[in-house]
Amino acid sequence: MRLTFLGTRGGIIARSDLHSMHSVLLISYRKTSILIDWGEDWLKPTPPPVKGLLLTHAHDDHVGGTRLGFPAPVYATRETWASIERYAIKEKKTIKPAIPFLIGEFRITAFEVYHSLHAPAVGYRIQAGKRTLFYVSDLIAIINEHEALKDVDLYIGDGAIITRKMLHRIKDGIPVGHTPIKEQLQWCARNGVPRALITHCGSEIVKGTPGEVEKRVSDLGAAVGVQAFIAYDGLTLVL
Ligand SMILES: [Zn+2]
Ligand SMILES: [Zn+2]
Repeated sequence: MRLTFLGTRGGIIARSDLHSMHSVLLISYRKTSILIDWGEDWLKPTPPPVKGLLLTHAHDDHVGGTRLGFPAPVYATRETWASIERYAIKEKKTIKPAIPFLIGEFRITAFEVYHSLHAPAVGYRIQAGKRTLFYVSDLIAIINEHEALKDVDLYIGDGAIITRKMLHRIKDGIPVGHTPIKEQLQWCARNGVPRALITHCGSEIVKGTPGEVEKRVSDLGAAVGVQAFIAYDGLTLVL
């Protein structure tokens, strides 16, 4: 799989050269390419040719760029479609958490995560060839963590905060907000995930000194035996 981080900025006001555009990941394998999320910053740019766009949830920094339509099938949960029903998207595909589906040679499964009551979110477990990654941009917790992260080669996670908790509230037993990178790296460690890349960067990373925040994150990873890096706009790697 070839991964290109087109954008790595979270739903914040700050931006920097490294994190200028809302989080979007382009994944290619053989002849198929897919995208994850297409937030507000991407309303004007033309998307690369892809077989499908996966949406994580209905917050603007993830779906805002699809308001006027999208030139490929768009995959989202029933809850996400309900929030963006007025968007001019033509090819709507409704996916169900825990039920795998195929796009070309990609085998994809959505996993429910705690993040928002109004915009229920999912992460995606994506498999192609012998490699598996898990992508989740916004979350407090993965509901079925062990199943989601089992045999995963690379975890791509939420960079909203580094160590401090950002739990907005708990309603009806459901936690809402973002979990620190530190805790996500612990999930990686306890599920045997060797590598983590952080996207959806919050102010701590975007306004921080790049070398310093990179070191903080790699030290947090090293402390639990996980190689951890911060992604930036334009980063390409092969998994
Ligand atoms: Zn977000
Ligand atoms: Zn969100």
